[in-house]
Amino acid sequence: MKVIEHYDRATEPLISFEIIPPKRGGSVQAVFESLDKVIEKVHPPFIDVTYHAAEAYVEEQQDGSLKRVVRRKRPGTIGLCAAILHRYGIDPVPHLICEGFTKEESEDALIELNYLGIHNVLAIRGDNTGNQVSLNLNGTANKYAIDLVKQIKKMNRGTYIEDIINAEPTNFCVGVAGYPEKHFEAPNIDWDIKRLKDKLDAGADYVVTQMFFNNKAYFDFVEKCREHGIKAPIVPGLKILTTPSHLKTLPKYFHLNIPDELTAEVDAYPERTRDIGVEWARQQTLELIEGGAPGIHFYIMGDPQPALDVIDFVKRK
Ligand code: FAD
Repeated sequence: MKVIEHYDRATEPLISFEIIPPKRGGSVQAVFESLDKVIEKVHPPFIDVTYHAAEAYVEEQQDGSLKRVVRRKRPGTIGLCAAILHRYGIDPVPHLICEGFTKEESEDALIELNYLGIHNVLAIRGDNTGNQVSLNLNGTANKYAIDLVKQIKKMNRGTYIEDIINAEPTNFCVGVAGYPEKHFEAPNIDWDIKRLKDKLDAGADYVVTQMFFNNKAYFDFVEKCREHGIKAPIVPGLKILTTPSHLKTLPKYFHLNIPDELTAEVDAYPERTRDIGVEWARQQTLELIEGGAPGIHFYIMGDPQPALDVIDFVKRK
């Protein structure tokens, strides 16, 4: 089923999850063990799997020379999605990114997904961290997420890159990213929301937000989105703070603010960070649901337990 149909038919807020594929050479068993736990407790309507661009490294060789090596650290998104569908019968949502992919490669990935019976994708730009190999230079890659959304929607109308007579239309539901605290490159929040509206006008079906720790940012964002004419579901993405190092790494990599109250508590009791983070997320989840959020999308990455602790508590309320 399509993600948008899950939201349209839902009679209560939907709980969904996002995971990352293992590092190259890693075992997929650990991912299944973690999903087994999630599915036993929650049976989510869909599970997102992130995509990772290839990165370029300089490696020193035995003779002391330097060699440029291009490697994707976490391959396997499509395979993992197929495994989720067949093992659990749950709709997987692969992320597809612009960064590091030619339009032909994106089309090929979408053809693979279509054949696998996977009809949901989250269309994302990706980031060039400086290490990544950028293919944007000669226009062979999609530049912004909106360009990928347009490509997918064209395929849904039977239009592929090459002119193909009687090409079979695909049938993808497309999610896109939104930023309650503004995307770090956008000059201001209104400008960023206009770009989000462009993605929806291009055919995207729903929005999942970047993680945030202050619900006011989400509620204000939703209000502004509605003022800009965005009608699609805007699903809050939540990450649970579990280690003191998150106070630095989350703002650094995700460009978000962590409220004073939360930082002060973690600073005072660093050994209790996981409990503090879980309690914070419990209150956030309750308030978001009471405030009318269509669901909660938990970024669990490798470890589902903190999110399951939050869900247990919320279910008992
Ligand atoms: P876009 O929508 O393309 O926006 C990027 C920036 O460009 C914004 O500032 C926007 O305002 C601006 N912009 C948009 N259109 C235009 C235009 N036409 N002209 C000028 N400026 C424009 N990264 C991964 O590598 N893999 C993942 O699996 C992944 N999953 C994610 C899931 C979610 C829910 C979120 C929130 C983020 C995810 N990311 C992932 C991170 C994402 O790649 C970065 O946040 C990236 O910087 C922006 O992606 P986007 O799709 O929002 O980009």
